[in-house]
Amino acid sequence: MEIRKDIYEQMIQDAIESFPNECCGILAGKTNTASKIYPVKNVEVSPETGYLMDSDVQFKILKILEQSSIEVIAFYHSHPNSECYPSKKDIDLISYPDSLYVIISLAEIESPEVKAFKIQKDKVREEEIKII
Ligand SMILES: [Zn+2]
Repeated sequence: MEIRKDIYEQMIQDAIESFPNECCGILAGKTNTASKIYPVKNVEVSPETGYLMDSDVQFKILKILEQSSIEVIAFYHSHPNSECYPSKKDIDLISYPDSLYVIISLAEIESPEVKAFKIQKDKVREEEIKII
């Protein structure tokens, strides 16, 4: 996937501002390039138990995107203290196996790590992120 530099930076900013809790949101755009970011309220505010997107907000965003023929490129969330890899819970709770899942790890707060994954059933495959 490709991601516009300003969007990439906004996503990291969202992770830092939500610290020590997890942030979550949606990256959208066209032809596999994320050019829009929609932070979504995390209704399960806790550094340990993960994230749960506010489903009303998520539904509204998906509806707007559909109406303007903009595609969901990826769902993102942060790992305030853990590695840049999907947790068991992340894998268990995947609801859009055709989308990419981006994780921002702040385990090294000075140098946030960002990776994208395709998660299908319990198979995890890393996908390249190109910043443009
Ligand atoms: Zn996670």
